Amino acid sequence: MLKDIVLAEGSGFCFGVKRAIDIAFDVAKKHKDGVFTLGPIIHNPQVVEKLKDLGVYPIDDIYGQNIKTLIIRAHGIPKEKFEEIKKLGIEVIDATCPFVKKAQNLAEKLASEGYQVLIIGDKEHPEVKGIFSYAGEKAVVISSDEFPILNKKIGIIQQTTQPMSKVKEIVSKIVNSHNEFEEIRIFNTLCNFTSRRLETTEKVAKQVDVMIVVGGKNSANTTQLAKLCKSIGVKTYHIEDAQEIDKEWVESAKKIGITAGASTPQWIIDEVIDKIKKFTN
Ligand code: SF4
Repeated sequence: MLKDIVLAEGSGFCFGVKRAIDIAFDVAKKHKDGVFTLGPIIHNPQVVEKLKDLGVYPIDDIYGQNIKTLIIRAHGIPKEKFEEIKKLGIEVIDATCPFVKKAQNLAEKLASEGYQVLIIGDKEHPEVKGIFSYAGEKAVVISSDEFPILNKKIGIIQQTTQPMSKVKEIVSKIVNSHNEFEEIRIFNTLCNFTSRRLETTEKVAKQVDVMIVVGGKNSANTTQLAKLCKSIGVKTYHIEDAQEIDKEWVESAKKIGITAGASTPQWIIDEVIDKIKKFTN
């Protein structure tokens, strides 16, 4: 049976991830040893392995290693860590995504102007930990309109990958059901790449029998894509690479959709498409 394979538009590397990877490969060419990234440069194990082959290693801690050059990943790192690294005299190459940088800068500015900073997001996510470190003592990471009120002036920003619908819901509750604030400032720090990919994925998921979501199992935005597809009711499989595809998933489907997270390289997407074609032709 001939199958239709539909790839969601904008699948794969986003601008910030591509930029971080390009920087890392460039550094690997110029520096022969002592190059590390603090945490994996992006949430994709295959890319991290490729970089290891070129001498760029991920580390969890800056101590106990002979670090000459340290690349800061796309998600950014906490301010205190940045300062600690600089004090050690390590060459820092900052590949923090400009959208994340914008959220960090806004957090710092709002805090310095006396606002209690509210960050809508997942407090365990590295990007949020980084933004939070710039947001002053009264900052709170929130996922609803309930939070400790420590100031009459609040500034609201978001983790770049939060869904717009969730942000709108929380912001509208804060604005409409709290009257204790003198001033509320709201900034949009969401990343268009993420919302665009969610839109194109939804469009594809609504017209296929099976969705294959490609990307690191530890990637928040890939997990979000898989969750979205499942919520639409389409049979969804989240895989990291082509090897994981089971023939049974695709052989009886008439139309198969594919989407991929922001840290999934094009070569992995191509391998997935080839494997599906092999199983279904
Ligand atoms: S998803 Fe957006 S914010 Fe995150 S790295 Fe990519 S471009 Fe930057």
